[in-house]
Amino acid sequence: MNIHEYQAKAILKAYGAPVAAGVAIFSPEEAEQAARQLGGPLWVVKSQIHAGGRGKGRFKELGPDAKGGVRLAKSVEEVVANAREMLGRTLVTKQTGPAGKQVNRLYIEDGADIARELYLSLLVDRTVGRVAFVVSTEGGMDIEQVAHDTPEKIVTLAIDPCTGVTAADAAKIADALKLEEPARGEMTKLADILYRAFTEKDMSLLEVNPLIVMKDGHLRVLDAKVSFDNNALFRHPDIVALRDKTEEDEKEIEASKYDLAYVALDGNIGCMVNGAGLAMATMDIIKLYGAEPANFLDVGGGASKEKVTAAFKIITADPNVKGILVNIFGGIMRCDTIAEGVVAAVKEVGLKVPLVVRLEGTKVEEGKRILNESGLDVVAANDLDDAAQKIVNAVKGAR
Ligand code: GDP
Ligand code: MG
Repeated sequence: MNIHEYQAKAILKAYGAPVAAGVAIFSPEEAEQAARQLGGPLWVVKSQIHAGGRGKGRFKELGPDAKGGVRLAKSVEEVVANAREMLGRTLVTKQTGPAGKQVNRLYIEDGADIARELYLSLLVDRTVGRVAFVVSTEGGMDIEQVAHDTPEKIVTLAIDPCTGVTAADAAKIADALKLEEPARGEMTKLADILYRAFTEKDMSLLEVNPLIVMKDGHLRVLDAKVSFDNNALFRHPDIVALRDKTEEDEKEIEASKYDLAYVALDGNIGCMVNGAGLAMATMDIIKLYGAEPANFLDVGGGASKEKVTAAFKIITADPNVKGILVNIFGGIMRCDTIAEGVVAAVKEVGLKVPLVVRLEGTKVEEGKRILNESGLDVVAANDLDDAAQKIVNAVKGAR
């Protein structure tokens, strides 16, 4: 689960991290109030969407010459004028895709005088099984670009979970970021704060880009992007309360109600599969034959007919889906349950695209019989390879 920048900053502030004063607002009137309250003389008006690259992003309705999704303002009037221009508009950034995201809330923040922009993030480094800091002197820009062009400028430091961030770790981070006092001493505190926030709140990513050294020599968290481990959300009701469903894919929200592992993707072949490994393999083989999956969907082991029905309905509701591949290897999952779910869903919502079904394993004969007797226009496939070729060909024909 992702949250907005201002929510992430509130969490980090509670842990003692240096963040600017700021107010989240939904209307120009609230923007004025917030600007007066903060007092200036410099304000930043920041679009709150679950995507980065806002500063360089552009509003769809305003054209390429208008300013981006993060704007500096030098008076209350300027704050309000920017808020009027930004609220309700669609911001397109490198991370939103071409459709962009509607900006419904802004964060009005005290502006900082920046001396240096640095990069700092925490993530789970699976190769060493530890939480790691990733830092670079090249902050404020596209870190993927830095990693590509000048990988030597990125320093990774894994933290021992038994000790947490040690003085030696903090010194390494400060060295990598070429920090001098007072920022250097502040980094020691900040590294510990960020590490504790990350582990205690079960984050999966905490990215501060940029972390800045201000003209007065102090550190400040200028931007904050936080993702949480969904599997640990049950123990963080305070975090769940921050969820902004307008930022999430409707299909993914619906899938989460049924406890389905579903991720919407950009392709046009809808997939219903059991088991994450088989789902991945199914996506790979669709790509191998030259098409793209519209989703990742693992209906799980012991899915009920209702769950399968819901899954199939979510897939068919996606207008990008031009064909559906059901690929089931029944172990704990029974092929007849899958067939019943598919038939029930089609009865409710119809089927306007080709459907290829590959069933194998537990209760496969019953499953095939249910599909045959349903009168559904199903293309049967013998194995994974055959199934992938059939659905890719069917979708090509549909274009
Ligand atoms: P992003 O574009 O979505 O990553 O949004 P950021 O919060 O990182 O802001 C983008 C850029 O705006 C930063 O890299 C800074 O250059 C600039 N910026 C943001 N806040 C301030 C501020 O308080 N003062 C100044 N001078 N620039 C800022
Ligand atoms: Mg940023």
